[in-house]
Amino acid sequence: MDTASETRLTFLGTGTSQGVPMIGCHCDVCSSEDPRDKRLRSSVLIEHNGLSIVIDAGPDFRQQLLREGIDNLDAILLTHEHKDHTGGLDDVRAFNYFTGKPFPIYCEERVKKALASEYAYAFSDYRYPGIPEYEIITISENPFRISCDGSTINVTPIRVYHHTLPVLGFRIGKLAYITDAGRIERDEILKLKDLDILILNTVRREPHISHFSLREAIEVARETGAKKCYLTHLSHQIGKHCELSAELPDGIEAASDGLKLAL
Ligand SMILES: [Zn+2]
Ligand SMILES: [Zn+2]
Repeated sequence: MDTASETRLTFLGTGTSQGVPMIGCHCDVCSSEDPRDKRLRSSVLIEHNGLSIVIDAGPDFRQQLLREGIDNLDAILLTHEHKDHTGGLDDVRAFNYFTGKPFPIYCEERVKKALASEYAYAFSDYRYPGIPEYEIITISENPFRISCDGSTINVTPIRVYHHTLPVLGFRIGKLAYITDAGRIERDEILKLKDLDILILNTVRREPHISHFSLREAIEVARETGAKKCYLTHLSHQIGKHCELSAELPDGIEAASDGLKLAL
């Protein structure tokens, strides 16, 4: 394979906001010994054109980077401001320390405002020694590029809705990552044509106010025509990985933490 154009993806986490197991729960899934039933908060590492980026940095961010041995990271893209997607951002301090530079974070203006309140100490005029240093790059629904040391990644944002909250998914080449969606408009589905890999969220079988149910996620995956779809943001309610995998139709798979894909 041509390594210059190869895209690699690693699932850093595939769990819903509470993770699996959930604190205090002793259901079959939460007590399963199958490592694929241990789900940290949802996030992916994408390596493309010589750059390494992570989409979302939830409360498990530090543990995920240590587990995968990620020493270098060029940017974080945020889908939205909920804590299961932003709770680990204090830990970019390690990259501040090694590079001596603010760490690039790509997000919408509304998400930037939420970060300024969530991480007020990092946005304060008074620079307390050792606080995280962020370089926030504001994005909209327009395609944008991430450039670093002469390498570039082109990103197409995909607008989705998490109940009424506008959230961004991201398409990079033939790969798209969409999480926390409960609704995608027709025009946005058209941006998901000709994909090799679609990553899409569901939390459970039953309808949910802000996430696709399993059936809805399968319908959306089919509508896009993506060659392969991996489901993420899974809760204990969806069942064990082995049971879910056995019932999914061809071309649709349950993701699991640490799973690596190449395209
Ligand atoms: Zn979430
Ligand atoms: Zn449980």
